[in-house]
Amino acid sequence: MDCLFCKIIEGDVPSSKVFENESVYAFRDINPQAPVHVIVVPKKHVEGMHAVNEDNDLQSLMLACAEVARIEGLERNGYRLVINTGRDAGQTIFHLHVHVLGGRPMSWPPG
Ligand code: 5GP
Ligand code: ZN
Repeated sequence: MDCLFCKIIEGDVPSSKVFENESVYAFRDINPQAPVHVIVVPKKHVEGMHAVNEDNDLQSLMLACAEVARIEGLERNGYRLVINTGRDAGQTIFHLHVHVLGGRPMSWPPG
């Protein structure tokens, strides 16, 4: 399968690891949109939120996001989790991922 994030998980494409456990991998975004910008992905390939079901360990994915926020020192001032899904949201990589963004104030609603 030709999936960039699967290649990153496998180590075939280099990445800057922040956190890993048996079902989740977290690494720094190559084009950060905030002082902290970490991508958290399930190791089991799924295209996005439109494709998830009970077989996907979404609990571990969310818990890993909270752990990344702790590791990166974001709990004090806050942070944002983003899951872009499909064309209108600007999803470009079709392997489910959560953006963990923090380290600066962010506006709402997003553009
Ligand atoms: P999306 O737009 O699909 O929600 O987010 C994809 C993210 O993956 C983007 O923020 C983009 O900067 C990041 N990205 C794309 N290619 C690479 C890469 O090769 N390495 C890393 N670390 N991040 C990448
Ligand atoms: Zn994949």
